[in-house]
Amino acid sequence: MKHTETPLLYEMSVPGRTGTILPKLDVPETALPKDLVRDDLGLPELDELSVVRHFTRLSQKNFSVDGQFYPLGSCTMKYNPKMNEDAAALPGFRRTHPLLPETMVQGAAGLLFKLQEALKEIMGYEAFTLQPAAGAQGELTGVLMIRAYHQKKGDTKRVRMLIPDSAHGTNPATCTMAGFVAETIPSNASGAVDMDALKAACEGEKAETVAGLMITNPSTLGLFEPNIREIIDLVHKAGGLVYGDGANMNALMGIVKPGQLGFDVMHLNLHKTFSTPHGGGGPGSGAVGAGPALKDFLPGPVAQREGGRYSFMHPRESIGRMKTFNGNFSVLVKTYAYIRTLGKEGIRRAAEYAVLNANYLKELVKENYPVAYGQCRPCMHEFVASPDLGNGVNTVDIAKRLIDYGFHPPTVYFPLIVKEAFMAEPTETETPETLEAFAAALKAIAEEARTNPEILKSAPHHTPVRRLDETAAARKPVLRYKQQ
Ligand SMILES: *Cc1c(COP(=O)(O)O)cnc(C)c1O
Repeated sequence: MKHTETPLLYEMSVPGRTGTILPKLDVPETALPKDLVRDDLGLPELDELSVVRHFTRLSQKNFSVDGQFYPLGSCTMKYNPKMNEDAAALPGFRRTHPLLPETMVQGAAGLLFKLQEALKEIMGYEAFTLQPAAGAQGELTGVLMIRAYHQKKGDTKRVRMLIPDSAHGTNPATCTMAGFVAETIPSNASGAVDMDALKAACEGEKAETVAGLMITNPSTLGLFEPNIREIIDLVHKAGGLVYGDGANMNALMGIVKPGQLGFDVMHLNLHKTFSTPHGGGGPGSGAVGAGPALKDFLPGPVAQREGGRYSFMHPRESIGRMKTFNGNFSVLVKTYAYIRTLGKEGIRRAAEYAVLNANYLKELVKENYPVAYGQCRPCMHEFVASPDLGNGVNTVDIAKRLIDYGFHPPTVYFPLIVKEAFMAEPTETETPETLEAFAAALKAIAEEARTNPEILKSAPHHTPVRRLDETAAARKPVLRYKQQ
């Protein structure tokens, strides 16, 4: 539908039309105070049905997991079961005030405690905080804990944080915010951490300045890091600690426990892996788990159980609060409902299907959309292709054209180390038929690149607004309707 076919509320206005009938006055009529009345607002005058249709139409223009396939890589746009919403909306949870005394919130505190226990079990950690509101805030929490650990030992020379070049952009940003110096470790030809570069960065004289390593596994290439044990050992030997970016645990949950692999601290994106809805800015949760070296530095309050009663405590060396009260509580209720619905077997099966779906899709499209790294290895929950369809067609053109075919585009141009990166994450909740339909669209687009590249260059064609200048849209957003 063209933009012009969807009139704005203001343009539909008819003078005198209204959606309400006010009751007859039962008090004497007086004029409103002059300074409260403005004639220059030009508010639209409309009937109720027109307003309802207008907003319903607008809502249907949104992409959503409930409406369309949404293979946005590194974002885990899986289906969010409605039962979780029902649980979060139970009056006992929804109407609980965060300042109520512990004795009156035993149910809510018990849920937080049980969620911490479940996450400890799934991830192999000794303790968890549910405070951080997002993945990036979870990262900051973990890295501040590493800083507090070194400071407590008087180890102030440790300022270098090693970060592989395939890392999410938030990793170097977080480490810089926490006062460390980000140092890039290159990837090798197979997309894994270059072990020689890592050794050079943390052996000999350089060892004593290593604060730690921030690493994502599976990497943002969707590949399991084959040398992860050796990498962790090298950093530990230098006296550093290892931060795991666990935003994308969808391939590992129920199968591998990162705590047992040796990651000292790791955040989870409950709004990705554990199915709570996200996009459009939240709310989310970046729960953080810690092993023996760091568990005493976790932010409080942490829920605990003593003699059958639940209460909150603040760990001994806590870095302090990261968020008010107990984090985004409704997200935590949904996470708990999700984990309890799936159970131990279901969590593992979800991860297995996530990997199976990604590999199935990778195989379906590899002729025109081959992966740049790890051709001979199975991918994890996602894969990163490097398409070259010819005739000057770029990944951005493919992404825009996919919208015309009714699909949300994958993540594009990330990670930076892949040329024309096209990062697709189908998740476990999609059927084979959906993956096949998506692959068929990609095949049709490859054909269009040969026969009619212009249609790709000028896509999308069926959206309310056509191709946007995304930089200008972000830097100079037009957020307000201006009357002509
Ligand atoms: C999504 C993501 C993050 C950031 O999470 P937010 O909740 O958006 O702050 C960090 N690292 C990786 C690998 C991610 O995929």
